[in-house]
Amino acid sequence: MTRSGAFCPRCGDPLEKDPRNRPGSEARDPDSALCDSCYFEQFDLVDAPDRIEVRVCSQCGAVHRGNRWVDVGAEDYTDVAVDVTSEALGVHIEATDVSWQVAPEQVDRNTIRMHCTFTGVVRGTALSEEVIVPVKISRETCKRCGRIAGGSFASTVQIRAVDRTPTDEEEERAEAIAREIVAEMEATGDREAFVTDVGSVDGGLNIKVSTTKIGQKIAQRLVSEFGGSFSDSERLITEDEDGEKVYRVTYAVRLPPYAPGEIIDPEDGDGPVLVRSVQGNLKGTRLKTGRDYEAGFEDGDAPDATRLGDRSDSVRTTLVAIEDENAVQVLDPDTYETKSIPRPDYLEEGSDEVPVLKSRAGLHVLPRDENE
Ligand SMILES: [Zn+2]
Ligand SMILES: [Zn+2]
Repeated sequence: MTRSGAFCPRCGDPLEKDPRNRPGSEARDPDSALCDSCYFEQFDLVDAPDRIEVRVCSQCGAVHRGNRWVDVGAEDYTDVAVDVTSEALGVHIEATDVSWQVAPEQVDRNTIRMHCTFTGVVRGTALSEEVIVPVKISRETCKRCGRIAGGSFASTVQIRAVDRTPTDEEEERAEAIAREIVAEMEATGDREAFVTDVGSVDGGLNIKVSTTKIGQKIAQRLVSEFGGSFSDSERLITEDEDGEKVYRVTYAVRLPPYAPGEIIDPEDGDGPVLVRSVQGNLKGTRLKTGRDYEAGFEDGDAPDATRLGDRSDSVRTTLVAIEDENAVQVLDPDTYETKSIPRPDYLEEGSDEVPVLKSRAGLHVLPRDENE
């Protein structure tokens, strides 16, 4: 027996090899001076907690990690439990060639037993160890879902229109914009972004959101898509625990009086106009000729005009004949009589049918709807 001249500090046996000569081991493992039998007697390959609690939000599926709620996008909590368990397990620093696996066993809806199997090599000896860690899923309501449920909001966007109520399309788009902005902010990890409420009111739609920044973005994006303008007003609600004043901001959006797709008569003698755009000043197409119409600078998006209808009021009718460069014959969609009406330059020769609008101003051919 080769003697190293060293003795085990616990049992006093002489040591064959001084374990302290293993490079680097003493600094890491205080037990490294022990003989093999004393060393393995108290050795744990795996360091595992007795139990793990995973707090999840039963509303949105967020998981509480550290001291905050995190959106993990988990389909079910088994994957989350495996991750959390894996993070909580430690393997002895002296072990090499470590491999391990964690197998979940669903006990009931809120309990998962994690079978964790480890293998590794310590002092030249292959070891394996299995530990079972119970994971309890505790279902709670996260801070954000609590605030949504409580109706918390910092900003209201009021969507209205001048001299009319907003169209279904405008209201649907307003809500979609709100959801898009919140989704964009959530994608950056922002958990404070949410839509609290979307509600129809007399004259339009109110959207309540969690921050003033979201409200402002909705108002800006709506106006850039539909024209019009918005103003904001703030109201002191309370002071928070730090004495900071908390304001609620209302963004009042006023969409222009005429929406694209409407047919109006500016009563300037040149006949009806199909509204194409209300960005800045109103632009449209004359139904008699197909020429462009643009409201004067001072009228902006609200020239004096009479409403005649909407593109959705149009019907298709038979194009009977092209009379000359200024007139065509169509069937009146109500009486089926042949009528001679103005020929706009957008009318395509060779069409069998054309969309027409019958209004107080008479019968007019509409341009083809590019969205169809
Ligand atoms: Zn010993
Ligand atoms: Zn939640």
